[in-house]
Amino acid sequence: MSTNQLTDPQHAETLPGAPLLEVDDLYVEFRTRDGVAKAINGVSYSVNAGETLAVLGESGSGKSVTAQTVMGILDMPPGVITGGEVRFHGRDMLKMSREERRRIRGRKIAMIFQDALSALNPVYSVGFQLAEMFRVHEGMSRRDAKAKAVELMDLVRIPAAKERVNDYPHQFSGGMRQRIMIAMAMALDPELIIADEPTTALDVTVQAQVMDLLAELQRERHMGLILITHDLGVVADVADKIAVMYAGRIVEEASVHELYASPAHPYTEGLLASIPRLDLKGQELYAIKGLPPNLMRIPPGCAFNPRCPYAQDVCRTDVPPLYEVVPGRHSACHFAGQVLEHSANTKNGGS
Ligand code: SF4
Repeated sequence: MSTNQLTDPQHAETLPGAPLLEVDDLYVEFRTRDGVAKAINGVSYSVNAGETLAVLGESGSGKSVTAQTVMGILDMPPGVITGGEVRFHGRDMLKMSREERRRIRGRKIAMIFQDALSALNPVYSVGFQLAEMFRVHEGMSRRDAKAKAVELMDLVRIPAAKERVNDYPHQFSGGMRQRIMIAMAMALDPELIIADEPTTALDVTVQAQVMDLLAELQRERHMGLILITHDLGVVADVADKIAVMYAGRIVEEASVHELYASPAHPYTEGLLASIPRLDLKGQELYAIKGLPPNLMRIPPGCAFNPRCPYAQDVCRTDVPPLYEVVPGRHSACHFAGQVLEHSANTKNGGS
C-alpha cells in the first residue's frame, strides 16, 4: 500500500488502533447582531477505529457544534471557524474542497441525529429512503437497492422487514424510527459514526436497546463512534473514553472506568452526583448550582468558577490549562489533584 493510499480519505483503510479522526485545537464562533458567541474554544480530541468516544456536556457546551464542524454541516454564517484542524486519516478536512467533503460525508463519516421524525422524509417510505442511498451513491438498480434496504432493516432488527419496507416513518414507533436512522448511517459502511443524542427522545427501556444495537454494530464493524450526550448514564456501558465539555472547552478526559470511579474536575463530579441512584431513594437529588455561562460573556479565568464549590481567587483570573493529572487523564482545573483525591476518598466511604 502506498503512503498516498494511507492518507487519502477516499482510499483510507481502517487499521486497528490507527487514528481515524483528530480534532485539533478547534475554535468556532457565531457572529450575530447581538455579539460574538465563542462556541468552541480550543477543543482537541481523537477517535481510533473500533473506539467509542462519548462527548458529554449540558446544552450549549459546544458538543454538537464540534460534531457539526466535523461533518461540515455547520451553518456558516453565522458560524466561523477561527482556528484548528479536523483531520480524517491525517488530512485536514477544513482545507478540502466542498466536493471532497461531500464524498466523505455519508460514505466515510455518517451522522445519526436526535430526532428521527424530522430527519426522515415523511412523504417517502423508509424503504425508498434507504434504497436511495444505494441508488445515489452506488448506482444500484431500483430492485437491488430495495433488497439492500430490507437487508439493512434486518440488520437493525426491524421485525418483518420485508413486509414493512414500504411503510412510512409515522407508521413506526420512536425506537424503530431511530433504528432506521442507524440503518441509514450504516448503509455505506462508514468508518466513523457521529451519534448526536441518539436516544434522548426515547423512553428508558428503548434507549438501552437502541444503544446496545449501536454498540454491537460498532464492535462488529470496527468503526469509530462519537457519542454526543448530556446523559452520563447512557454512555457508561458503551464508551471507551469520555471527553466532558463546558463552555466550549474540554474540561476532563479519561477512560469511562476512571471517570466514573473518581472524577478529576468539579463539573464532572457535579454531573455524576446528579445521576439518580436507587440506593439514595428519598434523598434530594443533587443539582449543580447556577446555569451554564452565556457564550457571549464567558467569565474570566475558569468558566466554571461561578458554579464551582472549590473555586479560589486564582480561578477567577487564570484560565486553567488541561493538566495531565495522572498518565492518560486530563483535567482543566487548577486543583485537579485535590478534586481527584476528594472524589476517590468519597467513593471509598471517606469524607
Ligand atoms: Fe473550580 Fe477553580 Fe477548578 Fe475551575 S479551576 S473547576 S473554578 S476549582
